[in-house]
Amino acid sequence: MDGRATRVEAALGGPRGVHWFRAPGRVNLMGDHTDYNEGFVLPVAIDRDCLIGIRPRRDGRIVVRSLDLPPEEGVVVIAADGSDEPAGIEPFWGRYVAGVVRELARCGRPPVGADAALSSTVPRGSGLSSSAALEVACAVSLSELAGLVLPPTELAAACQRAEQAATGVPCGIMDQLVSLTGRAGAALLIDCRSLEGRPVPVPPRLAILAVHSGLPRALVDSAYAERRAACEAAAAQLGLRALRDASPSDVADDPFARHVVSESRRVLDTARAISAGNIEGLGRIFAASHASLRDDYQVSTPELDALVDALVEAGAVGARLTGAGFGGCVVALVRSDDVEEVTRHAVARYRVRTGLRPTPFLCRAVDGAGRPTIADRGAD
Ligand code: ADP
Ligand code: MG
Repeated sequence: MDGRATRVEAALGGPRGVHWFRAPGRVNLMGDHTDYNEGFVLPVAIDRDCLIGIRPRRDGRIVVRSLDLPPEEGVVVIAADGSDEPAGIEPFWGRYVAGVVRELARCGRPPVGADAALSSTVPRGSGLSSSAALEVACAVSLSELAGLVLPPTELAAACQRAEQAATGVPCGIMDQLVSLTGRAGAALLIDCRSLEGRPVPVPPRLAILAVHSGLPRALVDSAYAERRAACEAAAAQLGLRALRDASPSDVADDPFARHVVSESRRVLDTARAISAGNIEGLGRIFAASHASLRDDYQVSTPELDALVDALVEAGAVGARLTGAGFGGCVVALVRSDDVEEVTRHAVARYRVRTGLRPTPFLCRAVDGAGRPTIADRGAD
């Protein structure tokens, strides 16, 4: 029990009339930089989430407190009608909230004010998508409070636009969609063109281990926008709507496009290998994905390469960088019986080789956003 609900309740001045919601972070098993090319992805909603308590407020303002920040940076006040420009809000994290408020208003949310407090167990800025957890927690709670009902794909798209407005980064929809629609015990095979998702159960004998490299992400925003623009240019040159429609021979001479096309195929291969329990196949696919992200898409770093090597040498089934790259996390599949040993050995090797301090996160696949149970809330 982490006592978050108790702290949220205290911040709201008591439990009366409080509605509760939670939204998880995510780790992507396969398919990086494919979502904005309308390809496939295979993320998992993880057992780390943003918990929010909310109640209506009468003055047309939305006041949100983050209990994870020092008090002087932890409050934002936003007009409930969505008239505040997200990029102008301070402190910075309030831009995500303002983005959500504006996008929901554009989707027809009545300007109902709110008092809300939140606390998240998704580490911030690590690549496990604390930003999507924050946006989705705000979006589901603010929608519910105002009686706005949207299909999950529309709500995810609203949160994606909110993140784009808050950060200026042209991010894809994967993080928000899996935070909303993830399934317990399964990865979600998402077609980023149709936005349809199919759960792919992950057998209990396979554990999902995310390891933060200890390397803060650098250059990631500008590199992301550059890669995305290069992909769109490559598709346009081929006369295609998106690289989703390119064949391997179309892109044989273009490393960025080659990554996107091969990676999207690896998502389908991974889903099949997980379902078939094909452990060796998974190892090969993960190795090919990391090599493609490193050599073709050029978003790895020597440290991420070292962490992937350390995990595989320590006995992981497969490991690859996950997320945008340039630091952040690596994801590994590990036989459940071996998790402790693999983690210990990989961490030790990596520390010796790089001098960095990695942080392992053993992840359980959970359901997407919704109402928490009392146990989730950690009420004590
Ligand atoms: P990631 O999504 O990988 O964790 P991002 O840089 O995309 O990294 O998002 C992190 C940002 O999201 C933080 O810097 C902060 O602005 C915001 N954020 C996430 N969680 C919280 C929280 N619990 N309270 C306040 N802001 C948060
Ligand atoms: Mg993020």
